[in-house]
Amino acid sequence: MPDIGILDLQGGVVEHLEHLAALGVSGRRVKKTADLEGLGGLIIPGGESSCLIRLLRRYGLDREIEEGIRSGLKLWGTCAGAILLAREILGEESGLGLIDIRIQRNAFGGQLDSFNLTADIPAVDPDPIPLTFIRAPKILQLGEDVSSLLQIEDYHAAAENQDILVTVFHPELTPSLAFHRYFAGKCGISVPGDKKLHPDWQADSWVSYAPIP
Ligand code: GLN
Repeated sequence: MPDIGILDLQGGVVEHLEHLAALGVSGRRVKKTADLEGLGGLIIPGGESSCLIRLLRRYGLDREIEEGIRSGLKLWGTCAGAILLAREILGEESGLGLIDIRIQRNAFGGQLDSFNLTADIPAVDPDPIPLTFIRAPKILQLGEDVSSLLQIEDYHAAAENQDILVTVFHPELTPSLAFHRYFAGKCGISVPGDKKLHPDWQADSWVSYAPIP
């Protein structure tokens, strides 16, 4: 089974690795182009999209990711990752521009306007899924080949095409493994067992992470 990579230049990497590990899926940090070798999928995590795109370009990862998608690599962008993948960013230059969506950065306000909610997303899991929005964007419009997985009021919170999944929220900051399982399936990776929740997850676990060696 191929690994799933997590782009490890900036942003929330450890939580994605831990969610994949809890599912028994092997995850790999991606810092340079050689790390993309043989991956089934790549997660572009949340963080700061303006910083991430500069680093992606500096290390030539932007071109390699584009190449990868042509040879079957699947992508999942969470929050800043979704912004990077969008073909159009409202009022700004686009980043990777690989999925036909129009997205608006910081569409709910500043960091203090972050929030949690729970939603039914039957295509991903039969049970309601907890969602964490942190200075999140809104997906305002979808191209013809893109379908909505979750629409709330005037925006889409999760969408996909055949190769790319985008979520404006952070499943890795909740105990739910549903989206990681779903993405693994999109990458053709079968997930053993039916574990739905991270066994050791705690609401404030991220504050206790030691610096990454
Ligand atoms: N607001 C950030 C940006 O525009 C995204 C925040 C996040 O990833 N949680 O890049």
